Amino acid sequence: MTVIPVRDDLKALEGYHSPQVDVRVRLNTNESPVPPPAAWRDAFASELSRVEWHRYPDRSATELRTGIAELHGVRADQVFAANGSNEVLQTLLLTYAGPGRTVATFEPTYQLHGHIARLTGATVAEGERAADFRLDLAEVDRVIESAQPIITFLCSPNNPTGLEESESDVRAVVAAAPGIVVVDEAYGQFASWSALGLIDDDLPLVVSRTFSKTWSMAGSRLGYLVGPAWLVAELDKVILPYHLDSAKQIAGRLALRYADEMEARVQMIVAERERIAATLATLPVDAFESGANFILFRPRTMPGRRVWDGLLQHSVLIRDCSGWDRLENCLRVTVGTSEENDAFLAALTEVLA
Ligand code: PMP
Repeated sequence: MTVIPVRDDLKALEGYHSPQVDVRVRLNTNESPVPPPAAWRDAFASELSRVEWHRYPDRSATELRTGIAELHGVRADQVFAANGSNEVLQTLLLTYAGPGRTVATFEPTYQLHGHIARLTGATVAEGERAADFRLDLAEVDRVIESAQPIITFLCSPNNPTGLEESESDVRAVVAAAPGIVVVDEAYGQFASWSALGLIDDDLPLVVSRTFSKTWSMAGSRLGYLVGPAWLVAELDKVILPYHLDSAKQIAGRLALRYADEMEARVQMIVAERERIAATLATLPVDAFESGANFILFRPRTMPGRRVWDGLLQHSVLIRDCSGWDRLENCLRVTVGTSEENDAFLAALTEVLA
């Protein structure tokens, strides 16, 4: 069998994996535990039946972008949408990173930031967070000074720790960075503040968001960023033509009509998150403060991997981060419905007993 070698710089690369196991309670990928409203599903089906399938979709997704812009009080030319926020970040990195350029991350953080940057051929400068996983501004200055990154990534709330970056830290990073600062707000709706309010055509700052979590639309693959119009115009040149299909544009546009229902889901999930956190505080685990729809925790009396296995025996699947760099023994649980959370907490209590 002839095997053609991949690019030299990709040889050592590992893919991004999240094991999918058939279980009763699935709390491992930070999705919404409930589907979108039935009214959305009906409106979507009805509009789908009227699509002219022999025609390409609206290439610039004008109505969708306008709807997103209205939601955030910005202009449509400050919004770029793509197939999940992962594709948004990939497009940004294809446009601004690449060989000879450096991208900065502060670890531990969302693995795809460094991963996609490497795929474009860029060098990744990995800064370290403090032991409590908060940003260390002296380290930020050191990394920015030595690496001069074209893109600096922040993630608020940060995945997988759940911690929010503070507004003053984000402002400090924007002031120090020589290039673009990205605040990945995939979990932004669960947090106490958003960097969206800082967006300005004169500031090289972008905020990325997704329909995968609060909008209950992970199956649709839709995400976007808000940033300066000059940057959005460059991304529009790099993205493939007609990348957002007709169905997705309809799905996203209609979802925006159900912002109140989305907000109600966020309230429910935040309340459940606090309930889980309160119970974790009574168990032999150290849990990190979360502004997201998941909680990172570290069992004190047992290896994380054994706890993860034990939960699986109870048909509860969470994310095993125990083997990840800097996250020794850590596990991450997504907030589910109250029944799912009860099942998780009961199983965890038994496993730790
Ligand atoms: N950013 C972060 C921090 C995430 O956790 C995720 C989803 N795991 C994404 C981006 C990507 O989300 P999507 O591509 O579904 O929009």
